[in-house]
Amino acid sequence: MKESDIVKAARLISQSKRICAFTGAGISAESGIPPFRGEGGLWNKYDPVILEIGYFITHPAESWEAVRTIFYDFFHQVKPNPAHDVLARWEASGILSAVITQNIDSLHTQAGSKKVYEFHGNSDRLVCIDCHKNFKSNTISLETLPPLCPVCYGILKPDFVFFGEGIPPAAYQHSTHVASDCDLMMIIGTSGEVAPANHIPHIAKRSGALIIEINREPSQYTGTITDLYLEGKAGELLPLIDELINSNYYT
Ligand code: NAD
Ligand code: ZN
Repeated sequence: MKESDIVKAARLISQSKRICAFTGAGISAESGIPPFRGEGGLWNKYDPVILEIGYFITHPAESWEAVRTIFYDFFHQVKPNPAHDVLARWEASGILSAVITQNIDSLHTQAGSKKVYEFHGNSDRLVCIDCHKNFKSNTISLETLPPLCPVCYGILKPDFVFFGEGIPPAAYQHSTHVASDCDLMMIIGTSGEVAPANHIPHIAKRSGALIIEINREPSQYTGTITDLYLEGKAGELLPLIDELINSNYYT
C-alpha cells in the first residue's frame, strides 16, 4: 500500500457527507478476539457446524461447549481497540453517521459509538427456544451446559444469529437504509463471505457510494466493488487516517 493511499482516504472522508462503516470480525482481532477466517481464524480449530441452528437444536451441549469457549469465557475481559475508538470519535464529531456491524462482541458500543446496527445481534442476552423469554447472559450460569430457562426449563440459546437463522428485522431495515443513503462506506475487517450480511456493501455501491476498504488481506470486495483498498491492520490504519484528518493534511 502506498502512503499516498492513506492521504487519499483522509481526503475522500473529509469530502463526504454521509459516511457509514461496515465492520466484521477483523476489527476486533486486535482486541484479542480471533476472527473466523484469515490468520489465526477459528475455523482452523472448530467445525463451523457448531454455529448452525439445526445442529444447536439437536446437540445443544456440544454446540454450547464451543460457544462458551469462543464467545463467553473471555468476552468480559476484552476491550475496544484504537479502531473502535476512532469510529466512535468520528460519530461524535459528525464525520460518521452509523456503524453496521456483523460482530456480536458489543465493542463498538463499549467504545462509545451510539448508532450501531448489530446485523447478527449480540452475545449479551440469551433466549429460551421454548418460551422465547430472554435473559442477560451475565445473570445465567454457564457451568452446566446447556443452560436452562429459569421460567420453563427450556434450552437457552445465545441471542445472536446462528447460521440458518433470520436477521433481526430492525437491524436489517436500519442497515439497508443506512447503506442505501451513504455517500461513502468504510468496509473494515470482513471477508465478505457470510450472507446475507455481505450484500450490504453492494447496496451502498449500487446507490453510488464510494467504497474504502481496510483489511489485512484481499476480500470478496477487493478488486470488485472497492474503490480504495488499504492493506493493513484496522487498529493501525484508522488512527493514521484520523491524524491526517485532524491536521487537515490531505489536500
Ligand atoms: P471473517 O472471520 O470471515 O473475516 C475476518 C476478516 O478480517 C478477514 O478478511 C481478515 O483478513 C480480516 N482481518 C483480520 N485481522 C484484521 C485486522 N487487524 N485489521 C483488519 N482486518 C483484519 O469475519 P466476518 O467477515 O465478520 O464474518 C464472520 C462472522 O463471524 C460474522 O458474521 C460475525 O458475526 C462472526 N464473528 C464475530 C466475532 C466478533 O464478534 N468479534 C468474532 C468471530 C466471528
Ligand atoms: Zn423458557
